[in-house]
Amino acid sequence: MAHVELNELVKNFNDVTAVDGISLDIPDESFTVLVGPSGCGKTTTLRLVAGLERASDGEIRIGDEVVNDRRAYERDIAMVFQNYALYPHKTVRGNMRFGLEQHDTPEDVITERVSEAAKLLQIEELLDRKPSELSGGQQQRVALGRAIVRDPAVFLMDEPLSNLDAKLRVQMRAELNKLHEELSTTTVYVTHDQVEAMTLADQIAVMDGGEIQQVGEPTHVYTNPRNMFVAGFLGSPSMNFIEGTLNTSSSGKFELDLGGETHDVPDEFAADLEDYVGERVVLGIRPENIALNQDGVPANVHPATVDVVEPQGEKTVLEVTLGTGQSVKAAVAPDSAVEMGDSVNLRFDRDSLQYFDPQTGASLTYDSKPEQKAIV
Ligand code: ATP
Repeated sequence: MAHVELNELVKNFNDVTAVDGISLDIPDESFTVLVGPSGCGKTTTLRLVAGLERASDGEIRIGDEVVNDRRAYERDIAMVFQNYALYPHKTVRGNMRFGLEQHDTPEDVITERVSEAAKLLQIEELLDRKPSELSGGQQQRVALGRAIVRDPAVFLMDEPLSNLDAKLRVQMRAELNKLHEELSTTTVYVTHDQVEAMTLADQIAVMDGGEIQQVGEPTHVYTNPRNMFVAGFLGSPSMNFIEGTLNTSSSGKFELDLGGETHDVPDEFAADLEDYVGERVVLGIRPENIALNQDGVPANVHPATVDVVEPQGEKTVLEVTLGTGQSVKAAVAPDSAVEMGDSVNLRFDRDSLQYFDPQTGASLTYDSKPEQKAIV
């Protein structure tokens, strides 16, 4: 096992900069997920670590060694791809053995490792089948098995679950979690699926435009995004952004003029926002942090009209229009008796408010400790 370190890593393909100076510490035994939209540079980063691409600049360390000049097979890594890439003419056993045979591993070690991995993955009864006789989930298990028998220092996984149907994906996610708990092998995992990222990772790196936007423990990143990109990328439905002008009220408190409606800024954010008086500021609030409040207390309750009611099972997503004309989404309990056209009062949970600079997208409240914020 090993930690992996990327220092100012750059990869240019002619005039395209796919990876733009990434620095990332991947601790030993961690499950680190690189997540971001299509084209943000996740796969290229993984291929650089794997040795399938050569870095244009920067350094890659696996363990204590700089591996930039090491070939893929010298790096003590094993990869699992989206397409399982099993040899169709070989049996499951043959596929799992192949990598070890190539490395001249002694026969007794091969037999033992294949048997152990098959047991771990619960595919013992499939060992004599060919890939064409397996379901997609079983094929992906074999691909994982092939990586496990190598007993590498690092697993590199590129969207390994994306060819599976939704139910199987959820099941395999849980199995990957369990597998990581048992093996503790340092894992770097690429996905564009933020739910997959949140559930699998103990460290998440959100990427955009070849750069890492934020790294951290998933829940921390979700609740404390550094910028509007991260705030909007993680979460479904996405965080609502509502822009307004920051003013000082007659009582000296900060308020955001949303265009016909006022949002009271809780006092604990005053220090973060004081340089923005008279300026435009974006208020961010996640749909699940908006509640329906039929009684209507004065602070931060906004009247709205319900446009769309979308029951999703465990929650109902409402699309509503505020008095300002802005459209926002709220996730409410499935038994909320709300219908299209209803007038409702929305209460924004003050403990979950975020404020951003509309020019740079940077969070203005990132450094405010959540525990310092008042509970409603
Ligand atoms: P996806 O989720 O769609 O796989 P990604 O985040 O993994 O996307 P990359 O595949 O790393 O993104 O690609 C990053 C950028 O580099 C993209 O603009 C892509 O077009 C470009 N790119 C990747 N590989 C090459 C290549 N071999 N030659 C030229 N450009 C490339």
